[in-house]
Amino acid sequence: MTKEMFKALGTVILDGATGSNLMKAGMPRGVCAESWILEHPEAILRLQRCYAEAGSQIVYAPTFTASEPYLAQHGLGERLEEINSRLVALTREAVGEKVYVAGDMTTVGKPELSYEYLLEVYTRQAEALKEAGVDLYVIETMMGLEETMAALEACRMVSDLPVMCSFSVTSDGMLYFGGSIYDAAPQLEGFGADAVGINCSCGPDQMGAVVHVLAKSLTIPVIAKPNAGMPNIDDLGNAVYSMAPAEFAKGMLELKKAGASILGGCCGTDPDYIRALREVL
Ligand SMILES: [Zn+2]
Repeated sequence: MTKEMFKALGTVILDGATGSNLMKAGMPRGVCAESWILEHPEAILRLQRCYAEAGSQIVYAPTFTASEPYLAQHGLGERLEEINSRLVALTREAVGEKVYVAGDMTTVGKPELSYEYLLEVYTRQAEALKEAGVDLYVIETMMGLEETMAALEACRMVSDLPVMCSFSVTSDGMLYFGGSIYDAAPQLEGFGADAVGINCSCGPDQMGAVVHVLAKSLTIPVIAKPNAGMPNIDDLGNAVYSMAPAEFAKGMLELKKAGASILGGCCGTDPDYIRALREVL
């Protein structure tokens, strides 16, 4: 997809959660997600087919942690290119040609890493994703500006594909590695991001103020991909998201009014939430 095509999309429906649904489908906690997905391809194929049927126009390939620092923990660092390629191929098989496939990258999770190191990490994955044939990139659940800058620069060095950047923030818009999304977002726009916003973090009912300010300060589209409400922790220590699809969709409509145009769900959401979202839009 070209940057012009991305700009022309208008209101866009993304997918919902991946990890929590794979766990429901049997993925154990603590395993290497990439290996499990490749050993149980039916789970991701079924989930992403459901997202496409529910109305997702962009579906994220399950490459979230298919970067060198994570794969190396499982002794798979050398197979990074092959793993990204096979994961993207699964998403393409699931959603077909009418839905865009985003190559997904995320935080390395440490605030102290050097820009040079991060750039190297993200460049390798961005290159692998481009070779795998993604339509665009999404850099999501980011915790700091510097790591997001490094990932964005990596994407822009290896291709001309559109790049979406989204942070996980506190409900008052602070980044976990310091600073605020209000300062970070315009810098990313200035650096060539094609959309900026928030994912995970909280429910749609708590994201309105941040979305409103972002929409006012940016000329590029604002992404809102919240959780199904705030989680409660059950007796086993699992996060349980309680907001129902209809309530979630109502909250998403408010975020659209606040200025978000790229809309989806994060933790606790599933294809029913995306269908409800499509219906309210
Ligand atoms: Zn999430």
